Amino acid sequence: MELTKRQEYIMELVKRDGPITGEQIAETLHVTRSALRTDLAVLTMAGILDARPRVGYYYVGKVMGSFVGNTLKNIRVEDFQSVPSIVKEDDPVSEAVTKMFLEDVGTIFVVNEHNALVGVVSRKDCLKLALGQGVFSSTPVTVIMTRMPNIIMTTPDEDIFSAARKIIDHQIDCLPVVKPLAAEKEEWEVYGRLTKTNLTKLLLELGEE
Ligand code: ADP
Repeated sequence: MELTKRQEYIMELVKRDGPITGEQIAETLHVTRSALRTDLAVLTMAGILDARPRVGYYYVGKVMGSFVGNTLKNIRVEDFQSVPSIVKEDDPVSEAVTKMFLEDVGTIFVVNEHNALVGVVSRKDCLKLALGQGVFSSTPVTVIMTRMPNIIMTTPDEDIFSAARKIIDHQIDCLPVVKPLAAEKEEWEVYGRLTKTNLTKLLLELGEE
């Protein structure tokens, strides 16, 4: 639907200053309230603006945006995480690749002998080794993994909104969900896995509700 210049102006005004009454909009535009009746009807029928008695007009997109944001901020990572796939740091890359196939995952976490997270191996890390003619069965995962302290992590209690932001900001597919292993040390136990697939499932669930 094509909006007129005046309707666009009203939409921007309400987006910026809403909720705002019809009288206030008319005043800003230096026209009478009745001269605006058609424009406001078009904008509300198109679902761009909505009006509440004694409150005025508000921009629907803004309300939708904060509704989605608030919903996501109230969902915890733990409620949508999956089971992690893990290898030991002296395992060969072939073990990580086998797990990727058997467990149908794209990211494997690497732990040391205390079960503390030390690295992350993705599909591309494995492809890089293949490009360099590396031998999967004799190269340890530690050679190709992204290692601590460069691992981006989440916790069971973090909200889904900020965890999703980490995934997008760091351009990665997956976050390890961790719990502290020892109170005083910077060591983390891998408790789960949060992936783009988990976030897509959440989106579908919210859509179906
Ligand atoms: P792919 O390599 O399959 O595209 P990613 O985009 O997740 O998968 O990985 C890109 C790079 O980022 C890889 O080198 C990988 O080791 C690294 N990486 C993946 N997940 C994380 C993470 N949570 N924290 C830090 N680095 C990561």
